Amino acid sequence: MILLMLEGDIVIIGGGFAGLEAARLLSKKRARLNNRRVIVVDAKKTFDFLPVLPEVAGGYVQKKNAVLDLAYYLESLRVNFEQDEVVRVDIGTKEVFLKSGGVLYYEFLVIACGSVTNFFGMDDVQRRSLKLDTAEDAVILRNVVITYPNKKIIIVGGGYTGIEIASNLAYLLRRKKIKKYSINVIERADDILSSLPEWARDHCRVNLSKLRVNAYTECSIEEVSDQRVKLSNGMMFEDYILVWAAGVVTPAFVRDLKFEKDKQGRLSVDEHMMFSGHCFAVGDAAAVKNGNSILRMAAPFSVAQARVAVANILRGVKGVKRLVKYHPIDFGFLVPMADRDACGKVLIFRVSGFLGWFLYYVMCISRSLSLDNKLGIFGDAFIPLKNRAL
Ligand SMILES: Cc1cc2nc3c(=O)[nH]c(=O)nc-3n(C[C@H](O)[C@H](O)[C@H](O)COP(=O)(O)OP(=O)(O)OC[C@H]3O[C@@H](n4cnc5c(N)ncnc54)[C@H](O)[C@@H]3O)c2cc1C
Repeated sequence: MILLMLEGDIVIIGGGFAGLEAARLLSKKRARLNNRRVIVVDAKKTFDFLPVLPEVAGGYVQKKNAVLDLAYYLESLRVNFEQDEVVRVDIGTKEVFLKSGGVLYYEFLVIACGSVTNFFGMDDVQRRSLKLDTAEDAVILRNVVITYPNKKIIIVGGGYTGIEIASNLAYLLRRKKIKKYSINVIERADDILSSLPEWARDHCRVNLSKLRVNAYTECSIEEVSDQRVKLSNGMMFEDYILVWAAGVVTPAFVRDLKFEKDKQGRLSVDEHMMFSGHCFAVGDAAAVKNGNSILRMAAPFSVAQARVAVANILRGVKGVKRLVKYHPIDFGFLVPMADRDACGKVLIFRVSGFLGWFLYYVMCISRSLSLDNKLGIFGDAFIPLKNRAL
């Protein structure tokens, strides 16, 4: 089935932070698009606010406040929405192939499809694991943990996601008055959060030990079966819940593109956020050089990159040759932990404890896309838990 045969469309793959910012700006500049249509394609019905997923898993933030209906939001922008999964992109013929069998033709393409949990091809692990890619995953994780509070929880990956999940699940079980729980973070490197400075790691370790989370470093998963998980250090866990947070990778259609990528499958882009003529990659799907390294995945970078891509699309439409360059500006990082704790760096200042936690929620509220979500997250964060159903 051929869905659309129009030339001149601007197709955005992904309705996440980057894709929706691009859609919003293009909608605002509609008059300058010379009747070109903007189409957002997303496999999901909702935009999921990923930074609060660990808190959704921990029952601290309600799912409804972390999601936004894409059809409703994009209709308000007068942008077309196609709910479908992109399975292939042909840059030569400018076609985007959808799982439903449909094809979209583009003049400008923005790949903003983010990343998904990387199981490194281990199907046996994937089958037995929970993950945290969507708000729905967060609810499933929470329900499993509440239903089986005495099972041993094994979280593979001691990066941001793994540590935030561990902290939030421990806090959830504590609030549920479960006295004997077992939460274990497994990290291959010699420390958790190895990309962070020592003082930030120390702070997170204190939070984890207060919440009785065990962290095992320099070890990995050796064997997973229905009965048990065996670690490379010889430890064995029976009757377990396995949560996989050991890395991310771009969706298969991006990895299949014959362009330069990094080891996570992110497309190498130039300073204009382009990887080919009229084709942009932004957000987690883009590998942006920042000095000698690749810029880390974070919502503010995704939004800023989308702005540059849109500026360059508008120049492309107008036939202007001089394009806008992306210069990453890093305002810092925050690692939110349960129990009103966080640590990180904002500009040049170290922040931790309640102040860090407060700033983190200010960031979440300001980046949420609807008033409902903003008010909802505000209520979840600042109204004491005892006033709400867990
Ligand atoms: C648990 C967690 C916690 C995080 N915490 C923070 C934080 O505290 N601060 C911070 O700055 N960043 C945080 N991040 C990272 C941040 O959320 C990402 O950098 C950001 O979401 C990337 O935006 P994006 O638009 O590139 O992709 P996303 O927001 O992931 O959106 C991608 C969209 O593309 C869609 N898509 C994917 N594949 C296809 C396909 N084949 N066809 C159609 N649609 C597709 C997806 O459904 C999704 O809606 C966190 C991420 C996670 C997972």
